[in-house]
Formats: sequence, C-alpha cells, structure tokens
Amino acid sequence: MLKRQSQWPVIGLSEGKSPAARRRVPSYKQTAIAVLLLAAFPLLLTQCISPSIEDPFSYPFIKLTHIGRLEGKPFSNYRAFYVLSEDFEPVIHTPEDADEMRTILRFASDLSEKNGVPWTHFVDVNTLAPAFISDDPGLKLRTTQMIEDLAQMTGRGDDCELHLHGGMDSRLIDYMRAKERLKIKLEGIETAHVSRQRKSFFFNSFNRDGYRNTVASLTYGKRLLEDSLYGGKSSVLGFRPGGWDHGGNAEETFIYFNALSDAGLAFNSGLSSGVFGGKDWRVGNKPGRNLAAVRVGANTIFEISPTSGPGGYVNPMLDADLTKLADSPKDEIRVIVSVFHLSQLQKSAVETDESISGPHLEDMRQHLERHFAMVRDLREKGVLYPITLRELYALMAANGS
Ligand SMILES: [Zn+2]
Repeated sequence: MLKRQSQWPVIGLSEGKSPAARRRVPSYKQTAIAVLLLAAFPLLLTQCISPSIEDPFSYPFIKLTHIGRLEGKPFSNYRAFYVLSEDFEPVIHTPEDADEMRTILRFASDLSEKNGVPWTHFVDVNTLAPAFISDDPGLKLRTTQMIEDLAQMTGRGDDCELHLHGGMDSRLIDYMRAKERLKIKLEGIETAHVSRQRKSFFFNSFNRDGYRNTVASLTYGKRLLEDSLYGGKSSVLGFRPGGWDHGGNAEETFIYFNALSDAGLAFNSGLSSGVFGGKDWRVGNKPGRNLAAVRVGANTIFEISPTSGPGGYVNPMLDADLTKLADSPKDEIRVIVSVFHLSQLQKSAVETDESISGPHLEDMRQHLERHFAMVRDLREKGVLYPITLRELYALMAANGS
C-alpha cells in the first residue's frame, strides 16, 4: 500500500485483570505515569486522527523536473515564465447568459492584446453543451457564437485545453458519438478504489462510473474542443481536473494519469496536496517544484502545476509578489502559473455565490486590469516572460526533461 497508516496507541485498560489486581492501590510512580499519559492523550489523539498529508510531488512515478536555460531564444534572459490560466466554466442557462459571457470574453481578449499576455483557458466542455444539444434555438445560437469568440481568441494566440468536473454530460457524448465513434483506449487500470481523503466531486463520480467512462469523457471532450476551436486538428493536449481532484492517494493518482494517457492527453495542470478545502490544502507547488514528468507505461505526461499561494494558488485577484516568485537559479527558468475564473465576472456568479461578498464586479475588473498592467511592466523589465501552457509543454517535450 502506498498510503501510510497511522497507529493507535495501546492504552492500558483494566480489562482481563483479576479483581485483586484491580483493587490494588497504585504506587506514586504509577500515578505519575498515569497523569502524564492523560496529559499527553489529547496530543496523541490528534496526531493519530489527522491523516498524513498526501504530497503527490513525492509519489514514486512523479519526478520533479525543470526547464534549463537555453541560449538565443526570445525568453533566454527573462527570470521566469508566466502563465495566466483560467478555468472557463460559464453558467449558461439563458441566451442572455451566453451574451454576458461574450462581453466578458471581449474584455479578457482586449486586456490580452493591450498588454501582450495570452490566456490559457481550461474549457469545461459540459458548460458548452447548449450549443450542441439545447432544444432552445436562441440559446443554441448564442452559445455557438460564444464558442466562436473563444475560437477567435485561440486564433490570436490564446490556448484552450480541456477541463471537466466529473464525467462528460452523457447527452453530449451521445451527440459526439453519433458524429463519429471514437475508439476508447483502455490500457490503464480498470478498477479504482473510492477516494477517501478528499471530498471528491471529480474522481468519485468517475470511480462510480468506472475507468471506461473516465477515458470516454476525456476522449470525446478533447475531440469536441478540437472540432469547435481548432478546426478539427488534434491540438488539445492538456487537462485540468475539476476541484483539483486527481484522487486522494498515489494509487488513484496513477490511475488518473493512466486515463489521461489513454485519452491521448500529454500534460496536466492541477496536482494538489492535503484535504480539499482544508487547512493543509494546497494546489500545485512553489516555483522550482511545480514541474514534473509522470511516467505512464511508455508515455510521459508532463505536470505543469499552478503556483501555490494564499487561498490555494496564485490568483490575479489576490496580490502576490511575482518578482520574488520569479527568482530562478542561473541555469533554469522557473514557471509561475496563476489561476482565475472568467465566470467570476458573471453577474449570476456574484448573485449566487455567497463567498464572493467582498469585491464588486467592477472592482474585480479593475483588479484584473491592474494585474495585466503589472505583468506587462515586469515583462518590460525582463522579469516575466508571458507564455501559454501549450508553448511551455512544447519546450518541456523538446527538452526531453
Ligand atoms: Zn473548474
């Protein structure tokens, strides 16, 4: 077993002793030991109850790696790469929701062009479903237009990769299957244990449905994005797990990477440690420790993790000292990956999500504008080189790191 088991302390109970032994008056020494044990008991108890923190970066099949400094490249003299990633998961129930998201995409695209900082969007294909399977022609049309906007942004240098919370909508899979039946590769392990450590709204649902459905979701999801955003070219190579959930231990994480490999995906961005949402929860790792090569059979999947930070990860909405994070040794260029959700700029998100009680929508937009301006400034100073995950993956694959 890969998971460490905690041992319960053996506490001296009077069970099984003779009545005479039970009646015996304890000596001073025995009393002192008992008092000490009682005092230490709460400490022992907490140590035994709290599970050991799983750190995927220490799993035997995940090897930390780095990007060596290459001469004569546009980025050769920068201190670090900067990836601005976002999970694209708009709430789309009405045609107006799609229109609102189109406005947000225009805002995001203008910021990118003005400041020379591309986005890497992890697109939750289930949120695009109305464009393919809605019975409402208005909703269908406007969701399609939103996807076309995203495709145009991709054409101008943004990167779109796959994201899913749980399995792909079965109606969406049926729609894709009717167009073209894809082969579902099942070389990975077909059985999985129930995830215990994290509150899992990704891996558990996949476990319930089985490995085949996991790979089917990833395979059809990848193809749906390629058809919609890349003119049918097999360009979608990366995945980010919804809820940062790749399972709660090494065994499950290995199955997860097998599923990515079987679906033809080449990189992942989303390892996390600790219990989801708990005090010890952390997404990704610090620069210098957030890149890894994951061996799956004959394949290597690269992990390009978000940069851990307050609240879980570096987030354009929260101030972080990017200059300090960009510190790299002479022979390597480190990578900072931040995470945002453009759907946070939707009115419905503010109205329904009680956790967003602080910044108003306009404040959030201004915060994002300031973030872009800061990254642009740091680029001009030779500190940060903005890049997409696709480009970064290509560098790592070419390096053979
Ligand atoms: Zn998500």
